[in-house]
Amino acid sequence: MSLLAEEDTVQAHLGLRWVPGFSELGPAFFTSLRPTPLPAPYWVGHSDPLARALGLPPDWRTDEALAGLTGNVQIAGTSPLATVYSGHQFGVWAGQLGDGRAILLGEIDTGWELQLKGAGRTPYSRMGDGRAVLRSSIREFLCSEAVHALGIPTTRALCVTGSDAPVVREEIETAAVVTRAAPSFVRFGHFEHFAAANRVDELRALADFVIDRFYPACRHDARFEHFGGNAYAAFLEAVSERTAALMAQWQSVGFCHGVMNTDNMSILGLTIDYGPFQFLDGFDPRHICNHSDTGGRYAYNQQPNVAYWNLFCLAQALLPLIGVQEVAVAALQSYKTVFPDAYEARMRAKLGLPASAPDDRALVEGVLKLLAQEKVDYTIFWRRLADHKAGGDPHAVRDLFLDRTGIDTWLSAFAERHARVPAAQAAQSMRQANPKFVLRNHLGQQAIEAAQRKDFSGVATLLKLLESPFEDHAGHEAYAGFPPDWASTIEISCSS
Ligand code: AMP
Ligand code: MG
Repeated sequence: MSLLAEEDTVQAHLGLRWVPGFSELGPAFFTSLRPTPLPAPYWVGHSDPLARALGLPPDWRTDEALAGLTGNVQIAGTSPLATVYSGHQFGVWAGQLGDGRAILLGEIDTGWELQLKGAGRTPYSRMGDGRAVLRSSIREFLCSEAVHALGIPTTRALCVTGSDAPVVREEIETAAVVTRAAPSFVRFGHFEHFAAANRVDELRALADFVIDRFYPACRHDARFEHFGGNAYAAFLEAVSERTAALMAQWQSVGFCHGVMNTDNMSILGLTIDYGPFQFLDGFDPRHICNHSDTGGRYAYNQQPNVAYWNLFCLAQALLPLIGVQEVAVAALQSYKTVFPDAYEARMRAKLGLPASAPDDRALVEGVLKLLAQEKVDYTIFWRRLADHKAGGDPHAVRDLFLDRTGIDTWLSAFAERHARVPAAQAAQSMRQANPKFVLRNHLGQQAIEAAQRKDFSGVATLLKLLESPFEDHAGHEAYAGFPPDWASTIEISCSS
């Protein structure tokens, strides 16, 4: 079979309609290249809901699709490329970075871009090998779909394919490729790249591209009229507000990203680049999930401030387009109200309160203080509180605390606040706001270890639970239980 025929066959199996997208920006923004093949690939995991959203046929997981999505055969109609970006890493300007191991296949007509992460070296790989290991690929795959199911904006993951090709990290591991999907993978760092090099024409082209596609309201909406038609200032404000809303969601579910460098900040306010992330087990506001983050720059309670710091970097980058420094600074101001308002609304939802009341903040702060005092399991506490509201055993909540007086006082205040809220409605909405299943480190680890032995059933089971995290899933209680002691010894670093 000729190469062209193979390309066409893969495309025919996937049936995707490719359209021009990021590549229209021109060669200043990327390098065209081909993925590097991996030997004897196999399926590790896949997301049916995303496959449907992308418009793939029901039987899409053919050998041809496997070859195409591992990067072994180019898919006809795609023009693979790696994009260039820069960024601040751990608070320091890191210069040029770029897609060192992610290759953008292109965009399809339903508005999704597809990217192969771990598909080989690119001109931006620096010292890296262009690969991703099975361990981190499974984590990214499961967490993308889990975060989506929690209702939090995120890049998605269609599948993971693996290969026995060795990859050197702290130990020898094996290679994998994640097929990621998002409306755009543009990061704050893409803007910083062109701003740092004083390439204002490219900076403007990129901003116009993103505004036209994703923020068209910035050009005309009355909401932005205080900027007097300055679409770039409006754009900065809109990105800042989406980022604020994202932080509120992360904080409310206890999600720690782990590496909030500006190159890992999505211009669309999506959760992006899952590395050393973690869902909190015991509630510790100062929790650091990234073993490499010795200073705790990206600790759980730092995330909203770090996002704001990152937005300042974006503002700096957009300054040549915005024109006046005061205007750029003004565009960031709403973060300071949007974040706390959004966070309070999220926490109110967790408490089952449909409308706000003056004491709500004290109620939230009160319970978080109690949780922090004893590092009570964050997910289990909230779910038990929801179950309690639904008529379940109140002791299940109290039993989580040694400080019984403290929790009893708080539960009385909670009950008093609920006196004016219909109970059935509150119980129902609390179960929709407090997940039973989150991707805890130890759950991911168990699925990974089985997958390393070529048993992929653990990945599939976990995915099923995480796809509907608010449902009860009878028979799967173990996945919703306390983490075992060894969970706290898992060390997740940037090595992936
Ligand atoms: P991260 O913090 O993992 O998002 O990655 C930071 C930068 O390092 C990005 O430019 C990545 O593309 C690059 N990178 C990370 N791992 C590798 C790798 N194994 N090979 C090539 N580039 C990599
Ligand atoms: Mg990254």
